[in-house]
Amino acid sequence: MSQETVYAIASGKGGVGKTTTTVNLGTALAQADKRVAVVDVDLGMANLAGFVSLAPDSTTLHDVLTDDATIDEATYRLADNIVALPSGTGLDDYANASPEGLRGVVEKLRDTYDYVFLDVGAGISHETVLPLGLADGVLVVSTPEPAAIQDSQKTVKLTNRTGGTVEGLILTRTHPNSSLSYEEIATRLEVPLIGTIPEDPIARKSVYAGTPLVVYKPDGPAATAYRQIAADLAGIDVARTKIEDPEDDESDSSDGDGGGDGGWEASPDEVSSAITEAESDT
Ligand code: ADP
Ligand code: MG
Repeated sequence: MSQETVYAIASGKGGVGKTTTTVNLGTALAQADKRVAVVDVDLGMANLAGFVSLAPDSTTLHDVLTDDATIDEATYRLADNIVALPSGTGLDDYANASPEGLRGVVEKLRDTYDYVFLDVGAGISHETVLPLGLADGVLVVSTPEPAAIQDSQKTVKLTNRTGGTVEGLILTRTHPNSSLSYEEIATRLEVPLIGTIPEDPIARKSVYAGTPLVVYKPDGPAATAYRQIAADLAGIDVARTKIEDPEDDESDSSDGDGGGDGGWEASPDEVSSAITEAESDT
């Protein structure tokens, strides 16, 4: 059975959890010994760089798209089995990069990695639409809010129009006692519901810690949901998406670094400086 390799993580509305989804699905699969690349194709509003330690003049996907660098030069190791290709965060980076070159980048990565996750920009601009058609499957991310759902409909339609395939919907920031039927939302969008990610205050904390949820608190509600979705995508048992720490039977493993295999390598300091740099760069 041929498995999907390249997933685009897309949404109509911004701020719904695409980057969180990209990083956590990617990391969960890496922990299950899959080789994973996550690519920041949100060329205008890149923020994956916050997860890697990048000097302001670091090589990024933008340099690859302007033929100033090779893919390898823009590839950064995050932890065992997982690399990231960040985008530049400056406005000049954006102006100079043409999204057309993405096709070649994706084809190359497809040959090298078991899974490639494209963190796509929100909206309906050219650089958003292009990756939808390059992916084997599009995972549409939305919160359950009406505005976000309405915008998801556009993403679904655009994907169909570009000849891409919507794999299904991931609803984020859901509430267990909601009166909304999440299944019903997916049905209305005419796509399968892949999973729901509950509202979880640890999501924001893990960003500040520079550590994906699935490493920071693997048994927390959102991390558990991401691990289940990752396992479903790969057709594996969910237990394989977690690195067991033999010295820590209590699951409160909030110190993210130094966890041996699969440890996350960017330290909180590195991440906060990367974020500061990103902010001063724009
Ligand atoms: P996008 O990439 O779509 O713009 P992000 O992944 O950056 O969205 O998430 C936007 C914000 O929402 C971040 O501050 C993130 O920590 C927060 N967030 C994401 N998922 C959850 C969740 N399940 N519970 C609570 N907050 C979340
Ligand atoms: Mg994002």
